[in-house]
Amino acid sequence: MTKPHISIVAPVYNEEAATLTALVERLKAVVGAITPHMQIVLVDDGSRLPTWNAIAELARTHPDVVALRFARNFGQHAAISAGIDHATGDYVVVMDSDLQDRPEVIPQLYEKARAGNDIVFVKRLQRPDALSTRVSSYLFFKVLNILAEDVHDGTHGNFSIISRVVADAFRSVPDRDRFYAGTVRWLGFPVAEVEAEHGERFGGRPAYGL
Ligand code: UDP
Ligand code: MG
Repeated sequence: MTKPHISIVAPVYNEEAATLTALVERLKAVVGAITPHMQIVLVDDGSRLPTWNAIAELARTHPDVVALRFARNFGQHAAISAGIDHATGDYVVVMDSDLQDRPEVIPQLYEKARAGNDIVFVKRLQRPDALSTRVSSYLFFKVLNILAEDVHDGTHGNFSIISRVVADAFRSVPDRDRFYAGTVRWLGFPVAEVEAEHGERFGGRPAYGL
């Protein structure tokens, strides 16, 4: 297989089969318009069996899809790290698998990366989550930033593109409890942004409780 130009890494926890199928279809359409050499790394973070079956089926029917499976739920950041370890592309896109990060934004991320930005994050223009979710997420990141010296920009999620240089640097960080966006920022490369709206959940429910 030709080396991928763009790898997409998405952590998956108990998402529905229809969501994952739509994710792969939309990625193939959007990223396929940029390059024929793509790799979609779906990391099952200890989901219930139907979700793993859906991932395994996608990997069986789409040669571009790589399926990884954790033995239990380790959390989305562990899943992202494992995905980056297996991503071999010149560029690595990290995104949620529930379609709240819209695949159609990837061309903007890619264009900005091609212009010489090693790290590009999506800045969320609006967050259609419930008020309680927004409040708990605000408080979480407020405390995190106090404890960990401003590692997080609250308008950023995980949706981003990093160059191969940054992906390798990220992999070389020995911390086991890595927080993707925080660790990427900590590496020290300039961080560029593109603005995009954050989508609605396609199906299923957010995995995070209070
Ligand atoms: N996720 C994961 N492990 C978990 C919880 C979530 O891999 O323990 C994945 C989930 O499938 C989704 C992403 O991480 O792709 C973000 O999770 P969610 O949509 O629940 O969070 P939110 O949209 O509220 O940030
Ligand atoms: Mg979500």
